[in-house]
Formats: sequence, structure tokens, C-alpha cells
Amino acid sequence: MSAARPLALPPPDEARRQAALDAYGVVDTVPEQAYDDIVRLAMTLCDVPAAAISLIDRDRQWFKAQIGLNLRETARTDAICERAIQQPDRPLVIDDLAASGVAGPEALRIGGEPLRFYAGMPLLSPDGRALGTVCVLDNKPRTLTAAQLEGLEVLARQTQHLLELRRYAMEQRRLLSEREAFAQRLEDARADLQRRNDLLQHSATHDALTGLLNRAALAQLRDNPEAMLQLQQSPYTLLLLDVDHFKDVNDRHGHLLGDRALRAVADAVAASIRERDVAVRYGGEEFLILLPDTRLSSAVQVAERIRQRIAAAPLPFALTVSIGLAAGEPTRDWSEQVFDRADQALYRAKAGGRNRVVVDDTPMHG
Ligand code: GH3
Ligand code: MG
Ligand code: MG
Repeated sequence: MSAARPLALPPPDEARRQAALDAYGVVDTVPEQAYDDIVRLAMTLCDVPAAAISLIDRDRQWFKAQIGLNLRETARTDAICERAIQQPDRPLVIDDLAASGVAGPEALRIGGEPLRFYAGMPLLSPDGRALGTVCVLDNKPRTLTAAQLEGLEVLARQTQHLLELRRYAMEQRRLLSEREAFAQRLEDARADLQRRNDLLQHSATHDALTGLLNRAALAQLRDNPEAMLQLQQSPYTLLLLDVDHFKDVNDRHGHLLGDRALRAVADAVAASIRERDVAVRYGGEEFLILLPDTRLSSAVQVAERIRQRIAAAPLPFALTVSIGLAAGEPTRDWSEQVFDRADQALYRAKAGGRNRVVVDDTPMHG
């Protein structure tokens, strides 16, 4: 009767069968017209009041489509389709269940009456795993003609095509999202590399203590013809700044406070210049400031501002700087001569008593 029958398939085959069904991702999906149409055709073809596409899923049979039945699923042990898939190479036809002693699912009703007739055509995966059936049902005994059985076979094949299409579409979606995930990972890695590269470039060209440019950055600037050309297209000014008696600062207050003083100097410089000006920590307590497109008279004001800001810096001791300035000559090579002249002005600032701004006054050479 409807007592539990042992599964005909041994466990490894059953596992593969279930895996084949799972690969379609069809169980528990919403009704779809294409499957409903097949069920309707089967019903008309066999002139029965009920038909279904039944899928055997673990311990139940689930109907992807059905007409004339009162249930969407039943226990697998009760399912006649379970018998049908155990002989996947041919249809299972039971003209009169009562006469053959086979019981269908207890609660299944067709027009309020129990099942009497069953014909199920197995649905197979391409590698021959039985997934379920296209079946026709009635509440009274009947016999199918050969033509009806053949028609049922055609509908089973159409159902298999639908399932294959579904799996293909799923696979395409999966491949697409894998490709998108891969592209995203690639983009993340590229962005990460760029970030590391930027960091590396930054630390190679910046002084760790003050955050200003370092000598390497200055050398890069001098080696960059485009930047140099731009610089020499208009008057520029070079400032050299040296902290006064900094050795004493270190000796009296220690290196840590000395470092803090250097940061205060850098902050005062950074706060006093424009975006396109260039500030370099040139030596231990020596700074170079390049003001493009700036005449000496305005540069003196910038230098004064820097000097005053440093004098007013919130430090536990007085800190002063000396600054030497020299004007760049657009038509000449800037580097050596302008630097020398700024250095001489700085020397004079030191010699003159420190804590001051001194402008280079050597006559320009034609
Ligand atoms: P002057 O007014 O003539 O410039 O005197 P000075 O003492 O500043 O000149 P000097 O060149 O003799 O001393 C510079 C000092 O700067 C010596 C060195 O220990 C100190 N110094 C250089 N780099 C650093 C640094 O990164 N941190 C600290 N705390 N001190 C530094
Ligand atoms: Mg010095
Ligand atoms: Mg000094």
C-alpha cells in the first residue's frame, strides 16, 4: 500500500540523481507559463482532469506545474512518480490503481476523489538521471492509446529542453558574476598597488619629521626640464632658512623638543607659502623655499611672515631663524648661482646678529 518503500536507487546513485536535479535550481521556484502550458497540453492530449510536472526532491515530490490537483507537493514515499523514476527508460502506466493494489498519496484528490489512474513519463538529465515525470492522472480507471503515450513522451522531452535552458541561463549568470567579481578583485588590487606606490613615492620625496619635501625631491625638480622651464619663464625667488643656535636648543632642551621645534618651523613655512611654492627640508635645520613667479619685494614679505610666525610659535623656549633671499634670473641656470647668492645673504643674516631676513645685493651679471 502506501507503506514506505526502500529507494530503488543505491545511495551513491541517489546522491548523483539529487545533484542533477539541484543543478537546475528549479525546485521551489514560482509557476512559469512554459511549464504550465506543457501540463495543459498533456491534460488535453490524454483527455484527463489532472496533469503535473513532478520533481522528486529528497524526501518529497514537488510539482513545478499542475492542473486538477489539490496539492503542490506530497511525501516522496507516497509518490507514484517515485516508482516511475525507478524505471527511467519507459513510462509507468497504471490503468486502475485500486485493481493493481497500488495506493497514491493519501491526501491527493482529483475533483474531490482519490487517484485511480496514473501514467508518468520520466524526465531525464542529459546523463540519464531521472528527475521526475510528466504525468497525467484521473479519479477513474482508463487506458491510454499508443498515440497519447507518444505525445506524453514528446512533452517530457520538451520539459527536459526547458530545464536545460534554465540551467544554461543560470550557468551564464554565474559565469558573468564570476567575471565581474574577478574584474572587481583586479581593480581592487590595482588600486591597492597605486596606493602603495603613491605612499612609496611620497615617503621617497618627503621628509618624515616635517612632512616637507626632501633633497631627493629637490633633485627630481632640478632634473625635470618641464618644471625648470616653467620656473624660468618668470622672475622667481629662492629663500634659504637656517634655525639660529639650534645646537644650543638640542643641548638645553633635548632632541625631542629640538624635533618639535623643527616641526614648528616647517608648519610656519607651510602656512606662509602658496600651493605652487616649493618648501624643502634641505639639511638638518636648513630649509630651502622656492617661490616661482615672485619678485624679491614680495618674497621679502613672505620671509618676514615666516620669521615672525616662528618667533611666535608655541614652544617652551624662544626660537628664531635667519633667512637669506636671492632673485632668480629667468634667462640663466638658476641652481648654482642663485643658491650661492641666497647662501651669502643667509651668512650675512647670521653675521649681522641672526633672527633676520637679508636680501642678496650682489650686482646682477649680464
Ligand atoms: P647657527 O645659528 O649658526 O645656525 O647655529 P646652529 O647651532 O643652528 O648651527 P649648527 O649647524 O652648528 O647646528 C645645527 C644643529 O642641528 C646640529 C644638529 O644636532 C641639529 N640637528 C640637525 N638635524 C636635526 C634633527 O633632525 N633633529 C634635531 N633635534 N636636531 C637636529
Ligand atoms: Mg645650519
Ligand atoms: Mg643653524
